[in-house]
Amino acid sequence: MKTNYYDYIIVGSGIAGLYIALLAIERGSVLVLTKGSIDDCNTKYAQGGIAVAMGKDDSPELHFKDTIAAGDGLCDAEGVRILTEEAADCTADLIKFGVPFDTLDGEITLTREAAHSVPRIMHAGGDATGEHIEVTLSRQVRSTPIKVLENCLASEILVQKGRVVGATALDCNTGSVEEYSCKFLILATGGAGRLFKYTTNSDVVTGDGIALAFRAGAEISDMEFFQFHPTVLRLPGVASFLISEAVRGEGGILRNVEGHRFMPDYAAEAELATRDVVARSIVYEMKKTHSDRVFLDVTHLPSRLVTTRFPHIYRFCRDHGLDITKGLIPVAPAAHYLMGGVKVNSWGEANIPGLFAAGETACTGVHGANRLASNSLLESVVFSKRVVQRTGVASPPRHSEERSDEAISCSLPGREVLPKVPPLNLPNLQSLMWDKVGIIRSGKSLKEAASILATWESLLPQSGDRPSYEISNLVLCARLVTEAALLREESRGAHFRTDFPRTLRKWQRHISFRKDAIK
Ligand SMILES: Cc1cc2nc3c(=O)[nH]c(=O)nc-3n(C[C@H](O)[C@H](O)[C@H](O)COP(=O)(O)OP(=O)(O)OC[C@H]3O[C@@H](n4cnc5c(N)ncnc54)[C@H](O)[C@@H]3O)c2cc1C
Repeated sequence: MKTNYYDYIIVGSGIAGLYIALLAIERGSVLVLTKGSIDDCNTKYAQGGIAVAMGKDDSPELHFKDTIAAGDGLCDAEGVRILTEEAADCTADLIKFGVPFDTLDGEITLTREAAHSVPRIMHAGGDATGEHIEVTLSRQVRSTPIKVLENCLASEILVQKGRVVGATALDCNTGSVEEYSCKFLILATGGAGRLFKYTTNSDVVTGDGIALAFRAGAEISDMEFFQFHPTVLRLPGVASFLISEAVRGEGGILRNVEGHRFMPDYAAEAELATRDVVARSIVYEMKKTHSDRVFLDVTHLPSRLVTTRFPHIYRFCRDHGLDITKGLIPVAPAAHYLMGGVKVNSWGEANIPGLFAAGETACTGVHGANRLASNSLLESVVFSKRVVQRTGVASPPRHSEERSDEAISCSLPGREVLPKVPPLNLPNLQSLMWDKVGIIRSGKSLKEAASILATWESLLPQSGDRPSYEISNLVLCARLVTEAALLREESRGAHFRTDFPRTLRKWQRHISFRKDAIK
């Protein structure tokens, strides 16, 4: 058991997990558990880039204002202040680690994305930012004494006398389960994008950290806010592939299947409106034209700009028979980013001593009801660094600092078990979530989903292998998303209900769930 002790155990090897590991190794022993290979994660798919106010017409204050505006009344202002003011320091760390951000004449080049007032997105390899970050950080990790266990799935958080003391993990190759103990357990397991039939997310992103934390007694917040990316390639037989926001930032135009440019009909900002507005407008246009897609048009842009600014997208489409400099790109929305997660304070601490969360798993409150594009890689580094700062002091202060935002805290409601439900499997779960808890929701669709999910939960067999752990974590996350969406009787940010289409002042508060909340 002694050999299984580490100062830090980090679950996950995306940007949050690897960046924390690289900072934490200066302060103690570090184990990274990751359930696939080191680079199986969402981070490597990030295209657009990472937001930081460094342009001559920009400032942290302006970045703060844009982030607050996108969050639709629910951002934690203190968190956003930290995010925007500490951005430059953390992105400088990435440069120091060797991430090759794109430059022109020795200066970092910045692009603009939807709902940012000015160009402020740093990118690498044009539209391959995440891949460069992941490759660079994992190379750095390999050159340190950080221990990385691949194909190792964290299966339970161990709590003793109210403090987190470690975790158990399944070796996915042998099926054996091992106990690991630590001073600090950091969940960096990403979001839960595999909940939905159409998703941009990697196979590994199944809400594990959120489910583990909930079962251990942690507070889970803002789960109703799931961001759907408006423009994901919709080519028959081709896996979901993101067409970055930056394509619209550079002048890409959305047209319905009849060729009409429709975004000016819905929003003054047209193609540069926030993601929820663009995603819903696309859904309305698809319904209106009886089609499962719309088109993104970049044929009017200089082809050299398209091929050099978006080489990754250009190559991917060309390899699937589409030259985007000449033809329209078929797109439709898909699940993309979870704003909610394990509720943490501004030092990444959850409500159980010893437990931290960072990256997409965490709910720091900086995204509110809707994330501003390119703020999630930034959130991952800014709040990860603060985790290490908090844990690095000789005796970390007691968990003191709570977020001051207004919240309703409740436990998951019990629901009647239905006599007959479709069999529980991944495709059925993903279709249910897409159809009933997706971009456009209603009380009726949410109630139907809630009953089926509760019934599935009651039928879950004991987990033994990776798929069975994942489905049980997904069902729990699906319940958290659905029950929060049912409770929130309004529309705000990424959460839209046809029976409550307006944003209401009384709902300017968060919903959080806790296993042991007082009913
Ligand atoms: C296609 C795409 C494009 C994007 N583009 C951008 C962008 O341009 N800018 C931006 O800011 N954001 C972007 N995002 C969002 C951003 O990439 C993610 O929010 C961010 O990378 C999350 O990093 P992370 O470290 O929290 O999680 P991830 O990178 O998803 O890593 C999660 C890790 O946890 C591991 N894991 C999960 N469960 C377990 C378990 N039980 N045990 C062990 N390991 C586990 C996984 O294997 C993985 O290593 C994009 C996302 C996608 C999907």
